[in-house]
Amino acid sequence: MSAAPPHRPNGQPRIAIVGAGISGIATGVALQRAGFTEFTIYEKAGDYGGTWRDNTYPGLFCDVPSRYYQFTFALNPEWSQLYSPGSEIKDYLAGVARRHGLHHRTRFHAEIVAAEFEDDGWRITTVDGAVDRVDFLMCATGFLHHPNRPDIPGLDEFGGTVMHSARWDHGVDLTGQHVGVIGTGSTGTQLVCALAGEVPELVLFQRTPQWILPTVNRAYSRVSKSVYRWLPALGHLPYAMNRAFFAAFSQGLVHPGRIRKFIQWVVERNLASVEDPELRRKLTPDYQAMCKRLVVSDRFYTAIQRPDVELVTSGIERVEKDAVITVDGARHELDILILATGFDAHAYMRPMAVTGTGGRTLDEAWEDGPRAFEGSMMPGFPNLFMLVGPHSPVANHPLTAVAEAQSARIVEWLRRWRADEFTTIEPTRAAADRYNARMRAAAPDTIWSTGCRSWYLGKDGLPELWPWSPRRFEQMVRSTPELVDYQLGQRVASEK
Ligand code: NAP
Repeated sequence: MSAAPPHRPNGQPRIAIVGAGISGIATGVALQRAGFTEFTIYEKAGDYGGTWRDNTYPGLFCDVPSRYYQFTFALNPEWSQLYSPGSEIKDYLAGVARRHGLHHRTRFHAEIVAAEFEDDGWRITTVDGAVDRVDFLMCATGFLHHPNRPDIPGLDEFGGTVMHSARWDHGVDLTGQHVGVIGTGSTGTQLVCALAGEVPELVLFQRTPQWILPTVNRAYSRVSKSVYRWLPALGHLPYAMNRAFFAAFSQGLVHPGRIRKFIQWVVERNLASVEDPELRRKLTPDYQAMCKRLVVSDRFYTAIQRPDVELVTSGIERVEKDAVITVDGARHELDILILATGFDAHAYMRPMAVTGTGGRTLDEAWEDGPRAFEGSMMPGFPNLFMLVGPHSPVANHPLTAVAEAQSARIVEWLRRWRADEFTTIEPTRAAADRYNARMRAAAPDTIWSTGCRSWYLGKDGLPELWPWSPRRFEQMVRSTPELVDYQLGQRVASEK
């Protein structure tokens, strides 16, 4: 048996952060600011940004306003637009990481393949076989990470190019190509808006129609940028305004009522702008607006009505060498197939092999789906924190805000560790069960449970999102923890 990590004489726990996306960066900065400096960010890829690094498809933008989708400790005066493109967000995240010196503490191309709880810390193994010992493991691996490749017969035999939207191959020249897009989520619709008119023929294969919320994107003027540059604290104002707006909007997500009705009215009016009744019928969802993630676009309906864009609603039967065959027998000859088919949003830190106390694996613990106490800790997995873990995605609340709030809570626990209040911490099973039962009880009130298929739903058919308001989430994360909910491990007296 290897020796337990000695209590750090300098009060510095050793920490591994897995992932250098939004939440890994937020955690790194929070630790550093609190004086916890013995941490390493392990990143399997070669740069910062997480999903914003992986997704580089044409037309990618964030449907949450940039002056809200940013860290409060790094307000950016340079946003080009109300809804900025993905590349700008990726550059912002990498810039924050570098300005805070995280590059000195980041190991790129260092995927952690296994983590085992041993004594009172974690033994972690990277892909090159190197082993490290840390006191705390922080999983900041995101959830829109593992591309979902659809199981369509013949897809592997397609003679042209097939690419998933999150693995865009910029070496592929689309000029003169006949392109098919499979999937009508936020990604598929953004792709259609970007590619319509750029290729001679664009075919959108739609399994389920989407409600579309129209918004107008606008560029920020040079004057506005220089004002924010001159007085950076001004950035808190649009942040607070957006926060208030999204808080009101989120009421409609978690409770039936007027906001739901209003959004429904807006999206129906938007749909009415589609002129051809048959096309309009095909684009009409049979579920309530916001049940799936609402698509935000002021261009999609214009794009789909173009003569060089075709909407195909008959299901895909199979793919042949040069065509997609739909169940109505139609043959759609194409050169390029783009899979805008989303992600396995329930994998979280897997395929990393995580083993807690008593040899229990994460796969065993999550046999019925991902569960966590307060979205970030699990019984049987001491000293493991998840950032934006199960049930932490707080509707359209930006992940930057969720990650900031959760990392502040983690810092509080580390302070207690440094004060020698415990060596290991995990929630009790009873507390975790109570918490998850409350989640399940709240789920039926949410819009996500009103009868549609989406990546929000888990194995049990219930949404794996935070089922209450963003305010309640922040209150929970900022409240003083009830120690009765936790099992604290102490060093034996002789070690003190
Ligand atoms: P998604 O919302 O999960 O949509 C996947 C699409 O692929 C759906 O239309 C789905 O149809 C279709 N699909 C999946 N498997 C299929 C199959 N075998 N045959 C035919 N169609 C299939 O994925 P996404 O569009 O990539 O978006 C995922 C999430 O990423 C979003 O909800 C959002 O949170 C985030 N995102 C955000 C932005 C942003 O602006 N902030 C942009 C892009 C993505 P069904 O609906 O029938 O299942």
